[in-house]
Amino acid sequence: MESIKSANLMIKLFIIQCLAFACIAQDFDFFYFVQQWPGSYCDTQKSCCYPSTGKPDSDFGVHGLWPNYKDGSYPSNCDPDVPFDPSKISDLRSNMQKEWPTLACPSGNGLDFWGHEWTKHGTCSESVLDQHDYFATTLNLKNQVNLLQSLENAGIHPDGGSYSLASIKSAIKQGTGFTPYIECNVDSSGNSQLYQVYMCVDNSGSNLIACPIFPRGKCGSQIQFPTF
Ligand code: 5GP
Ligand code: 5GP
Repeated sequence: MESIKSANLMIKLFIIQCLAFACIAQDFDFFYFVQQWPGSYCDTQKSCCYPSTGKPDSDFGVHGLWPNYKDGSYPSNCDPDVPFDPSKISDLRSNMQKEWPTLACPSGNGLDFWGHEWTKHGTCSESVLDQHDYFATTLNLKNQVNLLQSLENAGIHPDGGSYSLASIKSAIKQGTGFTPYIECNVDSSGNSQLYQVYMCVDNSGSNLIACPIFPRGKCGSQIQFPTF
């Protein structure tokens, strides 16, 4: 009898603990905030198309804000019930065009790119950010993280020159406080170049944090920084 009671108690305790922690499936642990260098999207074999609104600034543009788990895996396409709705972000539209330009072909006005990012990634952070806030938060981060400025301050310019990967990382660490992950791609001649920069952001979307895990991939130790 006593042992049944204590087993009962154990089960109750377990359920309480479970409700408090373990059973609440963690949506995601942190975000990657990913920016792309337009020159490196465009000078590849595949090439690019400027958006219908015109050639973007010679600056990094947003690729996306991606919920991620600490083990490196990530959720995607989490909520088919909330499709991308451009009318929800009409106040952000001109900022989006400037900071989050699409470079894919054929030329577009950005809605396809933003919609893809919302559907694939944004729907996985709905517990924290609704559709409007997902885009607004991403634009705030873009404002907060001036990669080109950080690089230029260290004498690293988009001039087609070759720079050490270490100097690029260190310039961004100097400017933002955190070590980025650098993703490279190759230009049409096969040279490794600075393509995307990943910064990590806490799961509220407000603060940069040290990356819990870095994606895998490789750049050369010297990479090019093409013009745009
Ligand atoms: P790729 O395979 O070209 O690196 O990535 C293709 C797409 O998969 C990315 O644009 C992004 O949508 C997604 N992706 C790739 N790596 C990661 C990652 O580490 N975390 C998250 N959340 N998404 C990723
Ligand atoms: P992800 O790699 O984020 O899963 O997918 C990116 C999708 O957005 C691809 O289907 C790609 O064609 C489209 N896209 C539209 N514009 C851009 C752009 O400027 N950069 C990148 N990386 N993808 C874009």
